[in-house]
Amino acid sequence: MKIICIGRNYAAHAKELNNPVPTEPVVFLKPDTALLAKGMPFFYPSFSKDVHYEAELVVKINRVGKNISQKFAHKYYSELTVGIDFTARDLQTKYKEKGLPWERAKAFDGSAPVGKFVSKEKFQDLNDLNFSLTINGENKQQGNTTNMLFSIDAIIEYISQFFTLKIGDLIFTGTPEGVGPIFINDRFEAFIEEEKVLDLKIK
Ligand code: MG
Repeated sequence: MKIICIGRNYAAHAKELNNPVPTEPVVFLKPDTALLAKGMPFFYPSFSKDVHYEAELVVKINRVGKNISQKFAHKYYSELTVGIDFTARDLQTKYKEKGLPWERAKAFDGSAPVGKFVSKEKFQDLNDLNFSLTINGENKQQGNTTNMLFSIDAIIEYISQFFTLKIGDLIFTGTPEGVGPIFINDRFEAFIEEEKVLDLKIK
């Protein structure tokens, strides 16, 4: 399986990192080794001194598809959760300045933990869905899908032009504003609406 991530999908987050608001989706991949086994903590990697959290709504693909039109995209997923796009911001900044690929900053082991998947049928409107992240009980990120520059279905149409989507593939749909550094012993909890989907410790 593969993990496809969208960058800068919320204008307020693009601005907080001094990035331009994109006119087409910013896309990058993470390997399956970026997932964390259930119940495992995230271990702060030795190669970075500034790892940031980015809480994102994550969609799981449940059918094989290529060149999927936005109109039919909803047929290709039935479950979602929240995941954390862990980013070694110090490395990413260095690579961005040099115009180099940023996989080492974004796709390292454990950099894409995901919560428990819940049926999309639980929610009334996926285009008006709240999700949030607390760290040590304090609210850090609050997103709503109405603020996405590219909706879930628009993302699926766009990326399936380039990549065949397969069962089990995950799509990280971008982070809202409020990203920041992580610290050892932090406890991350994430929610879709009122439902807690993720509980993760930093070690
Ligand atoms: Mg991200």
